[in-house]
Amino acid sequence: MYLIGHAAVGVLLASGTTHPAAAFGLGWLSHYVADFIPHGDEAVGEWTKQGNQVARLAILVVPDLALIAVALAADFGVHGFVPSVMAAAIGALVPDVLWGLEIFFKRRLFGPHHEFHDRNHNFFRWKIPFGYGLCLQAALTIGMWRWII
Ligand SMILES: [Zn+2]
Repeated sequence: MYLIGHAAVGVLLASGTTHPAAAFGLGWLSHYVADFIPHGDEAVGEWTKQGNQVARLAILVVPDLALIAVALAADFGVHGFVPSVMAAAIGALVPDVLWGLEIFFKRRLFGPHHEFHDRNHNFFRWKIPFGYGLCLQAALTIGMWRWII
């Protein structure tokens, strides 16, 4: 799942609390739950492995983070800066950040986290075509952000 989708899920699930630490934790946990849902971007993961994986991940991550910045800026424009919203969004990204750091440094840094995180992906072994997955993720993400904002 793209980071913008994870951030949306995290912020939405953590919207019941205004405590930043609780929101961060809920955001973090939401990532693993969201990864269970088939999201059709397995081909993107394979594409990153067919070349310089770090460079290819950066190509994907930079616009993804830019979209999160835009969504958070829109939210802050409406509701003002809410620390729990920022904390939930950041928490929702942590599992992929940990995963990405291990890719970047080419070594395991966080024990069994990498395997745990990978196991959640495609848990149900349902393959969704990339186009459908992208549309599904975009629709869910836009819907959630619209609800939040
Ligand atoms: Zn993930």
